Amino acid sequence: MTQPTHTHRISGGKYYEAAQHQGTGELENEWLVLYRDLDKGIDSIAKLHEWEAGWRRLEKDDCPLCLGSGIDPIKGVKYKPCGHCYGLGKVKGDGEQATEQWDVADIALTIITPLREKLESLQRIADNPAVQALLEQERQQAIIESTARNEQAWRESTGYGPGGQRHTGD
Ligand SMILES: [Zn+2]
Repeated sequence: MTQPTHTHRISGGKYYEAAQHQGTGELENEWLVLYRDLDKGIDSIAKLHEWEAGWRRLEKDDCPLCLGSGIDPIKGVKYKPCGHCYGLGKVKGDGEQATEQWDVADIALTIITPLREKLESLQRIADNPAVQALLEQERQQAIIESTARNEQAWRESTGYGPGGQRHTGD
C-alpha cells in the first residue's frame, strides 16, 4: 500500500506526492506536482506553490493514524481525541506510539515549547508601542467609517418627511 507523504493543512487526509515536473504549453513556466488522494484513490495535478501552500509534508513524529490532527480519524468526531496519539497529533521522535504517561508528557513538551516561544515573540510584537499606535489608528478609522455608514443608512431610510425622506436639515 502506498504510504502517505503529505496531509492537507486544513482538511487533513492522506496524500502521496508522486512526481514533480515542469509544465508544458500554457503552463510552461510552472512547476507541477502530480499527487494522489489516497483516501479517494484519485490522481490530481497542482501547481507547486498551491501544493506547498495547501499541503504539508508528514514528519516522522506525526501520528500515523490521525496525521497530526489529533482528532479520532475512525469516528471523525471533532471533540474525540485520536486514540493512537492521545489527541496530541504527534508520536515519539522515532515514530513510535507513546506507551506511558512520561512519553505523553515528553511529546506534549515538544509541542508546547515552540508554541510558547512563538506566542512570546508575537506578544512582544503586539506590545510594541508602534504596533499599539497603529492598532489604535485603525480602531479610530473603523469608528469614523461605522458612524458615517450609520448616518448614511439613517438618511436613506424611509422617514415621515416629504417624499418619504427624513428631514435632515440640509
Ligand atoms: Zn493521532
